Amino acid sequence: MEDNAITMAGAITDAKGNRSLRPSQQANKDSNLHVKEIRPDSIVLRGYKCQICGVAAAHEIICLPGSGYGDTEKDFCVAAAITRDIEGLTIVETRRPSDARDEEEGWDVRKAGNITQTFLIFEDVFVPNDRVFMCDEAKYTGRLLMTFTSIYSAAIGACVAGQGDIMIGAAINMARANGLSMKPFQDKLVQMAINNEITFGLGLGAMMRGKKQASGLFVPDALLAHANKTQVAKLPYETKVIAQDISGGIAETGCFPSYQDIQSPAYGKQILAALTAGADGETRARAARLVEWLTVGGGIPGCMHGGGSPDGARLVVKAMTKWEDYAAEARRIAGITSELADSAPAKK
Ligand SMILES: Cc1cc2nc3c(=O)[nH]c(=O)nc-3n(C[C@H](O)[C@H](O)[C@H](O)COP(=O)(O)OP(=O)(O)OC[C@H]3O[C@@H](n4cnc5c(N)ncnc54)[C@H](O)[C@@H]3O)c2cc1C
Repeated sequence: MEDNAITMAGAITDAKGNRSLRPSQQANKDSNLHVKEIRPDSIVLRGYKCQICGVAAAHEIICLPGSGYGDTEKDFCVAAAITRDIEGLTIVETRRPSDARDEEEGWDVRKAGNITQTFLIFEDVFVPNDRVFMCDEAKYTGRLLMTFTSIYSAAIGACVAGQGDIMIGAAINMARANGLSMKPFQDKLVQMAINNEITFGLGLGAMMRGKKQASGLFVPDALLAHANKTQVAKLPYETKVIAQDISGGIAETGCFPSYQDIQSPAYGKQILAALTAGADGETRARAARLVEWLTVGGGIPGCMHGGGSPDGARLVVKAMTKWEDYAAEARRIAGITSELADSAPAKK
């Protein structure tokens, strides 16, 4: 794919339906993408996938099972590559509340990073066998998902750190546009930098400790990657709050007039005069709009649930941490010779 510059979207997340029920127990089987029929030369897919990034720019949509499954869920254990224009697939581009700015003009329009999200509706999509990588094989689904989330959870550390670096810059610009310097905010700016470096470093560490698979693919260390995901679901939000704190109310949503208002021959000049502080009105308005975009607009999504929920990542950390080895080593250092067994009954 890389050699041929073919772009992909990863369709993993199913609509799911009732979260307390397995896919096979759902009232509507389409809540999860499934194999409706196996033919000699192809399979037929039905169901819904939700919140899928980058479909509009992808040559291929790679469908994967949304969870690790047991044998009761075989119909949902499907991995396949389909083209975007395949018959029977409806792609619904979704709209975020922050997209309202789309309709505005001038420097109110979003700056960058416009990711497209889609809902995918599969209605009897035929996939030829040479595009099917997995069908019915429940036992591989857990490993497949872990490989995906390890790669994603490592990479997102640098992604949010990059956004965070821009937030630092945007907050500094706001402080200056407000007539202040970095000095009164230095501690807060340092905290923003620490937050960014934690997710960057943890993601990088996971990659550096990654292992090459037989296929040639490198997969990051699962424990470090998933520990990183838990931080990605937390620290960028703190960074955003600090950016708003430094910037003042003007940078929070809807606190100053739009570009169109500022163009008004009747009152535009007065708005600019009112906005003037440590810098001219337009400079301050542009700086504020960027903070707003980064902290309550398009810069937000992806931190909490992108690549899986933080609770899912915590489960991986719980499963992969060597609790008993640590307890044994601490007993050795403390000179404790008894076994000091856990009093909670072991789970059967
Ligand atoms: C910006 C963004 C981009 C995304 N891009 C993609 C993409 O490109 N491709 C893709 O496949 N997906 C993508 N996703 C989807 C993402 O993977 C899912 O949102 C994520 O896995 C969580 O699933 P969910 O939204 O269905 O939440 P839910 O599963 O409904 O989770 C909500 C909460 O309930 C908890 N929960 C869920 N089930 C249970 C249970 N049975 N018992 C107890 N607690 C439970 C979860 O831990 C979580 O805290 C994207 C999401 C976002 C936000």
